[in-house]
Amino acid sequence: MPMHATRLPFRQFLLKIHSRCNLACDYCYMYEAADQSWRDRPRRMAPGTVLKTAALIAEHAREHGLPEVNVVLHGGEPLLVGPEYLATLLQTLTGALDGVARLRVTVQTNGIRLVEDPGLLPVLDRYDARIGISLDGTAASHDRHRRRPDGRGSHADTARALRALADGPYRRLYAGLLCVVDTAADPVETYESLLAFAPRRIDLLLPHGTWQTPPPGLGDRSSPPAQPPARGAPTRPTPYADWLRTVFDRWYGAPRRETGIRLFEEIMALLLGGTSRSEAVGLTPVDIVVVETDGTIEQTDSLKVAHPGAPGTGLDVFRNTFAEAAAHPAFHARQRGLAGLGPLCRSCARAAVCGGGLYAHRYDPGADPAFSGPSIYCHDLAALIDHIGDRLRHDVAELAAARGEAR
Ligand code: SF4
Repeated sequence: MPMHATRLPFRQFLLKIHSRCNLACDYCYMYEAADQSWRDRPRRMAPGTVLKTAALIAEHAREHGLPEVNVVLHGGEPLLVGPEYLATLLQTLTGALDGVARLRVTVQTNGIRLVEDPGLLPVLDRYDARIGISLDGTAASHDRHRRRPDGRGSHADTARALRALADGPYRRLYAGLLCVVDTAADPVETYESLLAFAPRRIDLLLPHGTWQTPPPGLGDRSSPPAQPPARGAPTRPTPYADWLRTVFDRWYGAPRRETGIRLFEEIMALLLGGTSRSEAVGLTPVDIVVVETDGTIEQTDSLKVAHPGAPGTGLDVFRNTFAEAAAHPAFHARQRGLAGLGPLCRSCARAAVCGGGLYAHRYDPGADPAFSGPSIYCHDLAALIDHIGDRLRHDVAELAAARGEAR
């Protein structure tokens, strides 16, 4: 496969340290999606793979003069590795990056192991690792999707972990909540049930889906639109925009800032001419790379919803470097900003803000190339962006009028 020259370095390294999970969530892209590569991979990243990966991250940071690198510990459920393994892994990363770059570690977990194993939080605290916890709103909504393999819901266990984290001595490690949007749940009730755990930030995630396998509620969308959505008169239902707009109004209209909501903050920043730090919206070049438990180097794992092998690069930490990965065409395609979008999105007035949505959500096996079309959430993204834009314009106009009156 031809390699392009390195364009941009990676700054985020997502390490799949444990490939199995203690939950069996019905929407999980790891186990329930098209790509089933987890079946052939080791349960846990071997110490030699950790060592090699840490050395390569340090080499990459040194080569590019990066002041800081972000390592995300992911799974499956990463905390299944246990405290001793975790301490060794974090010490290996810390040692490799000592004197090279500042290491920021985040662990993305369902939280259950934090209460089952009291040895985990002190280790995470020692290495200043931040903890993001997945919680899908109310107990009913969470337990509809996030279940134990035997069918029992997991909300009570996750809530216990969150209380221990939010109200206990490790509060400073609590990064926030991840919530997958379920349009069957009440949006305000969902938001307020998340707020009850006092998160610094909430990530509202659209369920993964493509034009081939649409997400819940968008089953009528078998083909992309011929034109970018018109303003003000959606030609298709927009259940996700309707849900998110309701949350936005509740959040934005609160008398004081209750928490951050990343999706809304990113869209607002982009509407005001800034850049995004999320893959979900905007045209910021991708800077995240995944290392699987067996050391293979992959693209973002949301691509598992597209087709078997979709995140693959053919590279691994034993034979390749992250510089080679960054120069791989798969990453290069997602570092080209507007030029990397297909013709429909390029012609869309919202392109700089929407960015065609999450790359995986553009997958359409009938398109050539298969990721060149708009997002399966095209109409929802358009309606949400227009709504937030209208609110911001209204506020700016009010502010200008108030300043005019004060003169
Ligand atoms: S996916 Fe986004 S950028 Fe592309 S046409 Fe739809 S709204 Fe516009």
